[in-house]
Amino acid sequence: MQLDGSCHCGSVRFTVESAQPVPFMRCYCSICRKTAGGGGYAINLGADFRTLKVTGKRHLRVYRATMEDGSVSTGHRHFCARCGSALWLWDPTWPELVHPHASAIDTPLPVPPEHVHIMLGSKAAWAEVEGHRSDQRFDEYPDCSLAQWHERRGLTSR
Ligand SMILES: [Zn+2]
Repeated sequence: MQLDGSCHCGSVRFTVESAQPVPFMRCYCSICRKTAGGGGYAINLGADFRTLKVTGKRHLRVYRATMEDGSVSTGHRHFCARCGSALWLWDPTWPELVHPHASAIDTPLPVPPEHVHIMLGSKAAWAEVEGHRSDQRFDEYPDCSLAQWHERRGLTSR
Protein backbone atom coordinates (compact mmCIF):
# COMPACT_ATOMS: atom_id res chain seq x y z
CA MET A 1 0.00 0.00 0.00
CA GLN A 2 1.08 3.57 -0.49
CA LEU A 3 1.94 5.43 2.68
CA ASP A 4 1.78 9.20 2.88
CA GLY A 5 3.90 10.73 5.62
CA SER A 6 4.90 14.12 6.91
CA CYS A 7 6.65 15.85 9.74
CA HIS A 8 4.58 17.90 12.17
CA CYS A 9 5.29 21.32 10.64
CA GLY A 10 4.67 20.07 7.09
CA SER A 11 8.05 21.14 5.72
CA VAL A 12 8.83 17.53 4.76
CA ARG A 13 6.31 15.26 3.06
CA PHE A 14 6.89 11.83 1.58
CA THR A 15 5.20 8.90 -0.08
CA VAL A 16 6.48 5.34 -0.20
CA GLU A 17 5.20 1.89 -1.17
CA SER A 18 5.01 -0.43 1.81
CA ALA A 19 4.56 -4.20 1.82
CA GLN A 20 4.92 -4.24 5.62
CA PRO A 21 2.55 -1.52 6.88
CA VAL A 22 1.32 -3.15 10.11
CA PRO A 23 2.70 -1.21 13.11
CA PHE A 24 3.33 -4.22 15.32
CA MET A 25 6.98 -3.92 16.37
CA ARG A 26 7.72 -1.75 19.37
CA CYS A 27 11.39 -0.93 19.85
CA TYR A 28 12.44 0.20 23.32
CA CYS A 29 16.12 0.82 22.52
CA SER A 30 17.52 4.08 23.84
CA ILE A 31 17.94 5.57 20.35
CA CYS A 32 14.31 4.94 19.33
CA ARG A 33 13.03 5.97 22.72
CA LYS A 34 14.92 9.26 22.84
CA THR A 35 14.63 10.30 19.19
CA ALA A 36 11.16 9.03 18.35
CA GLY A 37 9.46 7.32 21.24
CA GLY A 38 8.09 9.61 23.93
CA GLY A 39 5.91 6.73 25.14
CA GLY A 40 8.96 4.56 25.73
CA TYR A 41 9.20 2.93 22.31
CA ALA A 42 9.06 3.69 18.59
CA ILE A 43 7.47 1.75 15.74
CA ASN A 44 9.12 1.30 12.35
CA LEU A 45 7.41 0.03 9.22
CA GLY A 46 8.91 -1.73 6.21
CA ALA A 47 8.89 -0.02 2.83
CA ASP A 48 10.59 0.02 -0.58
CA PHE A 49 13.34 2.63 -0.71
CA ARG A 50 13.20 2.86 -4.53
CA THR A 51 9.65 4.23 -4.27
CA LEU A 52 10.40 6.91 -1.68
CA LYS A 53 9.47 10.38 -2.94
CA VAL A 54 10.25 13.35 -0.74
CA THR A 55 9.28 17.02 -0.89
CA GLY A 56 11.05 19.54 1.32
CA LYS A 57 14.34 17.64 1.17
CA ARG A 58 16.25 20.76 2.19
CA HIS A 59 14.69 20.49 5.64
CA LEU A 60 15.90 16.90 6.12
CA ARG A 61 18.72 16.15 8.50
CA VAL A 62 20.32 12.81 9.30
CA TYR A 63 21.27 11.58 12.75
CA ARG A 64 23.78 8.75 13.10
CA ALA A 65 23.96 7.54 16.66
CA THR A 66 27.17 6.69 18.46
CA MET A 67 26.85 3.20 19.89
CA GLU A 68 27.96 2.01 23.33
CA ASP A 69 31.13 0.54 21.82
CA GLY A 70 32.02 3.90 20.30
CA SER A 71 31.18 2.94 16.72
CA VAL A 72 28.82 5.04 14.64
CA SER A 73 25.50 3.41 13.79
CA THR A 74 24.99 2.48 10.16
CA GLY A 75 21.37 3.60 10.58
CA HIS A 76 20.66 6.97 8.97
CA ARG A 77 17.81 8.46 10.99
CA HIS A 78 16.09 11.17 8.98
CA PHE A 79 14.25 13.97 10.74
CA CYS A 80 12.90 17.45 10.05
CA ALA A 81 15.30 20.23 10.97
CA ARG A 82 12.44 22.67 11.59
CA CYS A 83 10.18 20.67 13.92
CA GLY A 84 12.32 17.71 14.92
CA SER A 85 9.86 15.01 13.85
CA ALA A 86 11.51 11.63 13.32
CA LEU A 87 10.62 10.45 9.81
CA TRP A 88 12.42 7.29 8.68
CA LEU A 89 15.49 5.16 9.04
CA TRP A 90 17.60 4.06 6.09
CA ASP A 91 20.57 1.75 6.45
CA PRO A 92 23.09 1.09 3.65
CA THR A 93 23.38 -2.48 4.96
CA TRP A 94 19.90 -3.04 3.44
CA PRO A 95 19.79 -0.26 0.84
CA GLU A 96 16.59 -1.50 -0.83
CA LEU A 97 14.62 -0.98 2.39
CA VAL A 98 13.44 2.10 4.24
CA HIS A 99 11.76 2.12 7.63
CA PRO A 100 9.28 4.96 8.12
CA HIS A 101 8.22 5.73 11.67
CA ALA A 102 4.55 4.87 12.13
CA SER A 103 4.24 8.19 13.99
CA ALA A 104 5.03 10.12 10.79
CA ILE A 105 2.45 8.35 8.61
CA ASP A 106 -0.81 10.11 7.76
CA THR A 107 -2.40 7.18 5.90
CA PRO A 108 -4.60 5.08 8.21
CA LEU A 109 -2.54 2.01 9.09
CA PRO A 110 -3.89 -1.49 9.81
CA VAL A 111 -4.39 -2.22 13.52
CA PRO A 112 -1.92 -4.94 14.53
CA PRO A 113 -3.50 -8.20 15.77
CA GLU A 114 -0.59 -8.56 18.20
CA HIS A 115 2.72 -6.87 18.93
CA VAL A 116 6.36 -7.78 19.21
CA HIS A 117 8.36 -5.96 21.88
CA ILE A 118 12.07 -5.70 21.16
CA MET A 119 15.23 -4.36 22.80
CA LEU A 120 13.61 -4.71 26.22
CA GLY A 121 17.12 -4.98 27.67
CA SER A 122 17.50 -1.23 27.10
CA LYS A 123 13.97 -0.26 28.09
CA ALA A 124 13.49 2.73 30.40
CA ALA A 125 12.50 1.55 33.89
CA TRP A 126 9.29 3.57 33.81
CA ALA A 127 8.05 2.23 30.47
CA GLU A 128 5.35 -0.40 30.88
CA VAL A 129 5.19 -3.12 28.25
CA GLU A 130 1.54 -3.01 27.23
CA GLY A 131 -0.20 -5.16 24.67
CA HIS A 132 -1.62 -8.61 24.23
CA ARG A 133 -0.80 -11.53 26.49
CA SER A 134 0.42 -13.47 23.45
CA ASP A 135 2.87 -10.73 22.41
CA GLN A 136 6.42 -11.90 21.85
CA ARG A 137 9.13 -10.15 23.86
CA PHE A 138 12.84 -9.94 23.17
CA ASP A 139 15.66 -8.43 25.22
CA GLU A 140 17.52 -7.67 22.01
CA TYR A 141 16.65 -8.21 18.35
CA PRO A 142 13.63 -10.37 17.44
CA ASP A 143 13.92 -13.77 15.79
CA CYS A 144 11.99 -12.71 12.71
CA SER A 145 12.08 -9.70 10.41
CA LEU A 146 9.29 -7.25 9.66
CA ALA A 147 8.82 -9.01 6.32
CA GLN A 148 8.70 -12.53 7.84
CA TRP A 149 6.18 -11.45 10.47
CA HIS A 150 3.85 -10.04 7.80
CA GLU A 151 4.33 -13.06 5.50
CA ARG A 152 3.57 -15.61 8.22
CA ARG A 153 0.31 -13.86 9.09
CA GLY A 154 -0.82 -13.21 5.54
CA LEU A 155 -0.59 -9.47 6.17
CA THR A 156 1.91 -8.56 3.45
CA SER A 157 0.47 -5.73 1.38
CA ARG A 158 0.85 -6.35 -2.37
ZN1 LIG B 1 8.91 19.68 10.23
